[in-house]
Amino acid sequence: MPTIEEKLAAFKERMREVQALQQAAALLGWDQQTYMPPGGAEERGFQLATLARLTHERYTSAEVGALLEDLVPYAQQLDPDSDDACLIRAVAREYRKATRVPTEKVAEFAQVTAMAQESWAKARATNDFATFRPDLERIVELRRTYAGYFAPYDHVYDPLLDDFEPGLKTAEVRAIFDALRPQQVELIQTIAQRPQVDNSFLRLRYAEKKQWQFGVEVITRFGYDWQRGRQDKSVHPFTTNFGRGDVRITTRIDPRQGASALFSTMHEAGHAMYEQGIGENLTGLPIAGGASMAVHESQSRLWENLVGRSYPFWKFFFPRLQQLFPRQLGNLTLDQFYRGINRVQPSLIRVEADEATYNLHIMLRLELEIALMEGSLAVKDLPEAWNSRMRDYLGLTPPNDTLGVLQDVHWSGGMIGYFPTYALGNLISAQLWEALLRDLPNLEEQIERGEFADLLGWLREKVHRHGAKYEPQVLVKRVTGSTIDPQAYVRYLNKKYRAIYEV
Ligand code: ZN
Repeated sequence: MPTIEEKLAAFKERMREVQALQQAAALLGWDQQTYMPPGGAEERGFQLATLARLTHERYTSAEVGALLEDLVPYAQQLDPDSDDACLIRAVAREYRKATRVPTEKVAEFAQVTAMAQESWAKARATNDFATFRPDLERIVELRRTYAGYFAPYDHVYDPLLDDFEPGLKTAEVRAIFDALRPQQVELIQTIAQRPQVDNSFLRLRYAEKKQWQFGVEVITRFGYDWQRGRQDKSVHPFTTNFGRGDVRITTRIDPRQGASALFSTMHEAGHAMYEQGIGENLTGLPIAGGASMAVHESQSRLWENLVGRSYPFWKFFFPRLQQLFPRQLGNLTLDQFYRGINRVQPSLIRVEADEATYNLHIMLRLELEIALMEGSLAVKDLPEAWNSRMRDYLGLTPPNDTLGVLQDVHWSGGMIGYFPTYALGNLISAQLWEALLRDLPNLEEQIERGEFADLLGWLREKVHRHGAKYEPQVLVKRVTGSTIDPQAYVRYLNKKYRAIYEV
């Protein structure tokens, strides 16, 4: 009979294999979105489906099940914060979920979503929703089937949300959004009555190479580790990793949108520094990743917004940016620049949205996803439903579907349940910031000097190194003293934007 220590070692070995298969799939996915020629799509779909099937088979094998049966009671005797206890707890939870889903459905989903990403890209490029529609119908159907494996549930959306936010329920998200929405709308309406700030300088031409260079300078100062990362271009910026030693980011650069690439680079670097900061003790294990997508997004939004759109940050970096772009920015004051990049204006595109309106884009998507999953909205009616909600929420009508329902990659990847994590990440980022300022009262002076080591060190210590040892709500509470709560974000928005718009 093997001892419990031997069983734990065998269990970790199985988990490392599963992790390696997932990382191989992630590398294929990275390649698909960066360098793969269009002709590779179909076979790539089969490759990804094969890896998804192998991963699922290994993860849900009888051997893992038998090991867990012995290890779960063993873990209950361990220190609940120990790596082993957290690992066993997290895998047992995932295992219970994964064994409910037939392997062939996992493979089918991987195949369908790989193909759908091509049809979505084509539909988006040609402004033709019909090209994407059959694939999206298939995805919605497969997601409804998936949710069905977890019945009974409080809400059909719960199993999907749980894949991105372990433990969080649809009802909780709705309660948070219901508290948040009127306060954000009130701020936006107050701002709308004030004279608008000028940001016309953002629409001048900014050479691609220099934009790239500046972004690299900024995130290098933040502490992004290039020995364990690289940056490439893709249609939709993203971060991916194949272990903590290889965490890659992508960006897209448009010479006519001076700020877009920079903020997206800071955003993705925030995600990447989280993965690079995971404790070495967790290497290769399934908990060597972010605690959840919302916690992940709290890191990206913290660096992009709380740091990257702040006055102290630009006090340091604006002179450097002026040096690179003297013709475009030479006559601008720091104050004009700061107001310009923080202009509040309802807009069509989520990833370009300002901080005050961003969450409304998310609320719109959450409602549509819930309606698709409940079956009260058909995919064929989605463009019209999108447009009508855009009018309600932001007072705008998209002129075409490329600027409307086709703008995001998520649905083509099957990631229904993902969107709310963006707004939750915003809320967590403000909660973390309040905690940070309590611990590092001179943080803003450090940022004014271009120093980020204490900030990154604090995030490493409090958030990054733990990986996915804790469920997101547990982690947020440990670090900030409260579970996810919209009030810190509302305080942050009001303080910042009432100053900018002088209300
Ligand atoms: Zn993100």
